[in-house]
Amino acid sequence: MIDAQTLESRPESHSLNSSVPTIRRWRPGSCVWCGDDNSVDMFRNEPRCGKCRENEGIIDDAKRFLGMYGLRPLGGTLQSDDDEEREYRVNAREARRVLNEIRMDVLPDAAAVRKAIRPRAATVVADTSPARASRPASTGTATRVAAPVKTDTVDIDTLQARVLGLLDQLGSIDEQIKVAELAQGLPARARLSDLNKQKATVLRTLAALEKARIAASN
Ligand SMILES: [Zn+2]
Repeated sequence: MIDAQTLESRPESHSLNSSVPTIRRWRPGSCVWCGDDNSVDMFRNEPRCGKCRENEGIIDDAKRFLGMYGLRPLGGTLQSDDDEEREYRVNAREARRVLNEIRMDVLPDAAAVRKAIRPRAATVVADTSPARASRPASTGTATRVAAPVKTDTVDIDTLQARVLGLLDQLGSIDEQIKVAELAQGLPARARLSDLNKQKATVLRTLAALEKARIAASN
């Protein structure tokens, strides 16, 4: 049954319709993507709110991870070689969904934004410098350095840790394969086939990591 509350909340959910007069538009000082004015700070030379910057950061982290290991770019399926890769893909997809959901109906004109932020650009930089210094991108490990240009920025330690983790995983899969091989019946065969697939995936990932390692050491 539809009650008054449900009916009241309806017009808001139709804000995608561009003919609705209460269309959200950008105002100087607010986020250029969603129009929110909560903890607005510069992000890629544009004012963005805290929620936007957080979600953009999640997507950037995923891109960096996939780029570092030479994995398929974001988008399409979530199919991944291991849980870690899958987690990055799932998080990035969710972040993208949130960003699409909060996007303003009409994005502001880039020139208008530039004009509006120019006078306060100096204060923005001054205000945020302590925050910037504490950001992981500037102090963290090599894996968090944005857009590595040279391959030698790939962190060999990170690669090695990942390889060791995968070798552990491989050992455990081999153990399970031994057990499954002794068992009889259809479920055991299905389990064996699944384990062999897992093993192939781990081996593929190891091969990709080895390639990344060789590229990094050249
Ligand atoms: Zn925003």
